[in-house]
Amino acid sequence: MRAMSQSAHACGKMVIVTSKIHSLLTRVRTYPRQTAIIAGSAIVGLTLFGLVLVNQTRVVDFSYDGAACVNRLTVMPHLYGSTDDSSYRLDFKGLIGPDSWPLLSKQTCVEPIAQPIEGTTSLAIVMKGLNLPVGAVSVKVPAAPRAQTTDFIDKAISTTRPLEVSLSSPDRIHNYNFEVDEQSVACQPGDSLISCDITKLDLEQGKRYEAALLRSFKDQTPIQIARGELETLTPLEIVESSIESGHKHFDVPTEYRFKFSRQLDDQPKVQVVQTGVENAADIAIETTATGEELLVKLTQPLPREAKFEIRLLDIVGRDGSTLAEPKIYTIETSGGPSVAGVSVGKSSVSPGSLIVVTFDQPLAESIDVAKFARSTGVASVVRRHSANQISFQLQGGGLCAGFSLQVDKGLTSGSNSEVSRDAWKYDSRIVCGTSAVIGYSVRGRPIVAHYFGSGATTILFTGGIHGNELSSVQTMQGWVDYLYANAHQLPANRKVVVVPNLNPDGIAAGSRNNANNVNLGRNYPTANWQARIETASGTLEHGGGTSPGSEPETKAILALTRQLRPRLEVSFHSQGRLVGANKYADSVSIGNTYAATVGYSTMFYNAEAVMGYAMTGEYEDWMGEEMGIPAILIELPSHYGNYASYQLPALLKMVAI
Ligand SMILES: [Zn+2]
Repeated sequence: MRAMSQSAHACGKMVIVTSKIHSLLTRVRTYPRQTAIIAGSAIVGLTLFGLVLVNQTRVVDFSYDGAACVNRLTVMPHLYGSTDDSSYRLDFKGLIGPDSWPLLSKQTCVEPIAQPIEGTTSLAIVMKGLNLPVGAVSVKVPAAPRAQTTDFIDKAISTTRPLEVSLSSPDRIHNYNFEVDEQSVACQPGDSLISCDITKLDLEQGKRYEAALLRSFKDQTPIQIARGELETLTPLEIVESSIESGHKHFDVPTEYRFKFSRQLDDQPKVQVVQTGVENAADIAIETTATGEELLVKLTQPLPREAKFEIRLLDIVGRDGSTLAEPKIYTIETSGGPSVAGVSVGKSSVSPGSLIVVTFDQPLAESIDVAKFARSTGVASVVRRHSANQISFQLQGGGLCAGFSLQVDKGLTSGSNSEVSRDAWKYDSRIVCGTSAVIGYSVRGRPIVAHYFGSGATTILFTGGIHGNELSSVQTMQGWVDYLYANAHQLPANRKVVVVPNLNPDGIAAGSRNNANNVNLGRNYPTANWQARIETASGTLEHGGGTSPGSEPETKAILALTRQLRPRLEVSFHSQGRLVGANKYADSVSIGNTYAATVGYSTMFYNAEAVMGYAMTGEYEDWMGEEMGIPAILIELPSHYGNYASYQLPALLKMVAI
């Protein structure tokens, strides 16, 4: 209603103006000469009026934001401009009249051609073509905007986001460039800031760089307005995860959790991919970032017996930090249960043992394990031992008896739906020997004999009669270990007895003699026994003992030897790569066999000359004198080391003698 009435009002005015113009034109046609005078006067008048207006000096407050204008009337503005050498170009705005011939401008604006200089500059207005100054405007230029250097100097900045530097006022006049080391990137103006896309600079995280901010006007040489060291944010780190790389899932995983060193931005980029399969589709997941935590939910189950990668590809912190590089966890899923281990070795199982077989995952509770597992060779009772274990309770078992444990396929997992596809079988053997304490040392240490085989003919081996000859004990212990596992291979008519350590006190103390300072190798009741003995370093008054066979260690082995009445005795000493013999029965021939097998020298008739001192009350001599038994003596290459595997061929020959 209101708009309509205004329009009607304007229409009425228009009618009056039209009738007035009509009457004026009628008069002009009637009085041509007067008309010319009036028109001329009007033009001169307008020009003078215009000049008066042009002459009004006004101050233009220059702004770096762009427009720098002042309200000021200019008649026929197209007539005016600035001088060619001015630093500013004049621009008349708010024009009234035809575009090609505006009669009036309401605003006078300046646009810098050269770098604006702080302060007030007078800009002459001239009539175009005449270069005739007809007026001026003052351009008042404030100080150039200052950059907030603390936005990047000595501040940890993100390498993945544009760097924003605040300005003290908006600036669309200058160009800004940000330089880091030798690289440079242009900055875009914003509201009282510039945004420099340093993501193009390929900066590393957790480093310090030399940086500078440069400003230029148009294509002029840039001026450095700030310089200093900037620091990039240290990379985002994973501080906790619910999964470790290399993990094998026996369960059915539903989610993974990761905790990072800083709060996370939204939309982390994560993939779970099956590997080793061509064109496998990604596993469907949902990711949620909450604070420092990333939750990866598997929205479909992982295929079984497959390998996967959990790829944390692009995780960004709220501060713009990222992982130094994508983190990849390799994981796999199991199939059905399979045996991971068994509690016994391939031999030396004690009769009546409880043998535990461990699976890689729990077995379904519904399984009756006794129907799936059994032993052969030695009877057993099969039971469930724990969620992922079954046990075989052996029902006795003869020495060296071989037996097998078996588990059928078809066992259902208790932690996933898979079923075992392979049967399992394990061969082992009951221990081949027994052991017994045959006596005690001066200090009460047990002297142990090990017994193998059940033949009528015994071969006796000893070591450690001299406590400084550790290799003899180690080698005999190695021989014992071998026999515990392999005695089933001994000839059927043989028994082997090994006493690895005849002088446990001396071995414990590292001393040649026993705890009574008696050389046990000189304490036997031989014809040549003496209390006073010779040694490598002179004579030892009671080195042979207080009487023949006075020492408890000697008593123990004497009793055993008398009881066993062995076919052959082999004692180990060190050091010298030598073989000696007691020269009873076929001892020299046996000694030669041993020496030839191991490549040692013999000292059958010159032992005292070789050793350099007289030897009395020796074990081997006693064996020959009292029992007529051949005995040989081996000097191993050094005091330390287990020579059992090297001696094995010779030891086995001795057993078969
Ligand atoms: Zn010795």
